[in-house]
Amino acid sequence: MNYEFESNEEFSEKLDNEDILSEFRNKFYVPNNIIYMDGNSLGLLSKDAENSINRIIKEWKQNAITGWMTGDKPWFYLPEEIGKKCAQIVGASENEVILTGSTTVNIHSMISTFYNPQGNRTKILADELNFPSDIYALKGQILIKGLDPEKELILIKSDNGRYLNENKIVESMTDEIALIFLPSVLFRSGQLLDMQYLINEAHKRGILIGFDCCHSAGVIPHEFNKWDLDFAVFCSYKYMNGGPGSTAFLYINKKHFDKKPVLSGWFGCDKNKQFNMDIEFKHARNAGGWQISTQGLLSAAPVESALDIILEAGMNNIREKSKKITSYLTYLVDVFLSKEPYNFKIGTPIDPEKRSGHISIEHEKEAVRIGKAMLDNKIIPDFRPPNIIRIAPIPLYNTYHEVWEVVQILKKIIDLKEYKNYSKGREIVS
Ligand SMILES: *Cc1c(COP(=O)(O)O)cnc(C)c1O
Repeated sequence: MNYEFESNEEFSEKLDNEDILSEFRNKFYVPNNIIYMDGNSLGLLSKDAENSINRIIKEWKQNAITGWMTGDKPWFYLPEEIGKKCAQIVGASENEVILTGSTTVNIHSMISTFYNPQGNRTKILADELNFPSDIYALKGQILIKGLDPEKELILIKSDNGRYLNENKIVESMTDEIALIFLPSVLFRSGQLLDMQYLINEAHKRGILIGFDCCHSAGVIPHEFNKWDLDFAVFCSYKYMNGGPGSTAFLYINKKHFDKKPVLSGWFGCDKNKQFNMDIEFKHARNAGGWQISTQGLLSAAPVESALDIILEAGMNNIREKSKKITSYLTYLVDVFLSKEPYNFKIGTPIDPEKRSGHISIEHEKEAVRIGKAMLDNKIIPDFRPPNIIRIAPIPLYNTYHEVWEVVQILKKIIDLKEYKNYSKGREIVS
């Protein structure tokens, strides 16, 4: 798709007028007088999600423990119900997705089930650009099996610190690899890997493969079933807008339902028998078998209404707007910010089909201070070391005009040398 853009302000308003998702912004609490471009790290609160939290508080007040089995939405089955909704978003069967745990815990859980080193096949294939927590979990899982992470974890290298080459990943799929675990999207550069291709190539070689979809779930349509993906994990607080630290998801292909949940817990029982309190663990033959503990309802309920909004908007519409609004941003960066004295570079694939929902703009020397100046100019981006400012215009609540403003403010920060007013140190959470 080639977009035809113009760089004047009126054109941004025209794009907003043509935007079929523009009404969805009204469902969210968009912070006053702030341009929020960080929904890839923490999605905004919607009124619907707030109502769901209030519903749980009311039910707790009125029903106390009977809330587990009474009311319109008994708490006991909520993770399955929310899993069903999520399954529609990621292209899975309804019993293949469950709301449970957190991303990192779910990685531990999935790897403990799927990593079975045997004979020559003892290694896990991952990549050096993945989110650190994923790598920590993989190393921990290798240790639990009594093996040495230095030997058994193979990290695919990047040529340029930004992108991975899918063909190079395939070349690394040797007969020593027992399991592959990769991100769908690289969190710094936003590169979207060709998941279907990698799944096919892994399976041709008899290797199981899972993905961390934190940076694609809710902004990119997936077809887990069609692709025959073995398993996936993802959080619900980024593009899914489920709330800070909200409960995460895991997907497990139905052909693996007989595999053993190794991080097992009583909520993984067949729910009709859980309260028999049998000490023999028989896990539910669905994704729910990988639940561990009593689900925290206050961090689960908002996810449901957040997903309803995504379903109402439609994943394809979300993706279309995401591709267009990020392309608009790269266009404006190119027009206003790529030359002297601005010197910003795009560190994200230029082809919108090959990227997710954020654009990384790199500034070799001054990214930290520019990021701080953006905050004082009422823009919230985020910063990733060493020199990356990530800007995420979110299809459900950001406008084209906001994108135009962000670029003008960046231009002003350089024109007036505003960044010079700040120190070079970084904040703890960025
Ligand atoms: C956001 C993110 C996480 C976060 O993990 P938590 O367990 O929720 O803290 C992990 N991995 C990736 C790839 C992420 O993008």
